[in-house]
Amino acid sequence: MYLTQGLHRSLQRHPGKAALAHLAGTAERNTTFEELLDAVARRAGVLSLRGVRRGERVAILSPNSDQMVQAIFACWWLGAAACPLNTRWSAPELAHALEDSGSSLLLVDASLWHAVPLAATARLTLDQLAQEAQAQAPLPDTRTGGDALAAILYTGGTTGRSKGVMLSHANLWSASMTRGAELNNSPDAVSLLVAPLFHVAGLGRLVGQTLVGGGCVTMAQFRTPAVLAAIEEHRIADIVVVPSMLQSLLDDPGFAPARVQSLTRIAFGAAPMPPDLLDRALAAWPEAEFFQAYGLTETAGAVCINLPANHRPEARATGRLNSVGRAGLGAEIIVVGPDSRELPRGEVGEILVRGPMVMQGYWGQPEASAAALEGGWLHTGDLGHMDADGYLFIVDRLKDMIISGGENVYCAEVEAALRSHAAVEQAAVIGIPDAQWGEAVHAVVVLRAGVDGDCGRMTDELRAWCRERLAGYKCPRAITFAPELPLSAAGKVLKNVLRERVAA
Ligand code: ATP
Repeated sequence: MYLTQGLHRSLQRHPGKAALAHLAGTAERNTTFEELLDAVARRAGVLSLRGVRRGERVAILSPNSDQMVQAIFACWWLGAAACPLNTRWSAPELAHALEDSGSSLLLVDASLWHAVPLAATARLTLDQLAQEAQAQAPLPDTRTGGDALAAILYTGGTTGRSKGVMLSHANLWSASMTRGAELNNSPDAVSLLVAPLFHVAGLGRLVGQTLVGGGCVTMAQFRTPAVLAAIEEHRIADIVVVPSMLQSLLDDPGFAPARVQSLTRIAFGAAPMPPDLLDRALAAWPEAEFFQAYGLTETAGAVCINLPANHRPEARATGRLNSVGRAGLGAEIIVVGPDSRELPRGEVGEILVRGPMVMQGYWGQPEASAAALEGGWLHTGDLGHMDADGYLFIVDRLKDMIISGGENVYCAEVEAALRSHAAVEQAAVIGIPDAQWGEAVHAVVVLRAGVDGDCGRMTDELRAWCRERLAGYKCPRAITFAPELPLSAAGKVLKNVLRERVAA
């Protein structure tokens, strides 16, 4: 199990097939599998010449691009681990990750050269790497794999300081197989890599596609007009999105179902999917297969997948539309109570995962690793319940769940109630300290464009709306209005930032 395996297989089967297409404005750069292998082998040679050894870490800071893909594979070819860094981090955050990972080299896109503090690790731009590679003899593939470290992925930090998740070749390989077995991955479907490659959704998709010999299209940023144009022009069949991306595609003035009908497979996950948004997407792509995936950086990708059949209108009555599906191939999932004992079906508890995709631990954090992997299970920090047929339903994250007056309030339920109001575009719910109730439910709402912004009246209206739909203790005590919600680079709402803002 090594991650360059798919490249060798593709070279044997279809060397001239398109492996990568990078879109930059109107320009397009194409790479066949034969060219990709050559580019990777030469880049591995450059890394070796620059002193990178097997087992070392190489940091990569770049928006998604063909160059970044080649750099990642060059690390694996050489037997080094790739540490793709978040392009939205500040200089101190980047400095921390570089030092924390102990990377011997930083490969950086020229546009981000100045984002990194100068004293940091030795660096090379991806353009320099490409140039030097031209004069470099190709290196033989070390075929490093199995338990060897393939990547350190820093978690999104939605709930606090980000940690370096250690993923081995076997972890990423297994996660791809789990997903592939459920989705029947085919080398014929071209995948648009819109999720960042420093996030498991992007990296996992790249691994899955290349293992089966499928092509990928990369773009530096998720800009909806460009994404719509790419889907249309490149007849993109496969996409992995977080709900906020789907919303911006559907809201774009240039959106027309006819432009995007090539998409036959839409996988979504990484954050709760608001039911109203899912309805809009299902209506926009009546023929497409929708998959909901649930997973963490710590599981190298999806461990639960809800199959297309459960998204069809006739399956509504089963109530499975809002499930994240059942444990995928190789994954074991249980729901436990505070004493770590498995709970009867239907009861809400913490979700634990076991299987070959579960991480090796957090880099340099033995205590956090031991706590997360206690008893041989990954403690996900997510709360959910499972039905009699093994369908898993996520209700909240442990850290986000609000306990108000001794009652548990799950944010997603309150957010869905708020979003069902016609004036609400987005809603995020957080708990704030409250002398009387312990915590109080606080909602931050983004109103739809053109809605009368009289906040006092709107607050009363939304609270009344919630009272009609939710038990009293779940209704927001306070509502603030914001022009937008703070999102992570992967498109998730940053609740820690919201809590700080509300407290300020
Ligand atoms: P951090 O763990 O540092 O707070 P993060 O939330 O971005 O950052 P990830 O590993 O990217 O970390 O996200 C994993 C989490 O995303 C899961 O624990 C779960 O809460 C959420 N998640 C993933 N898929 C789904 C889904 N289909 N529905 C609801 N939530 C999901």
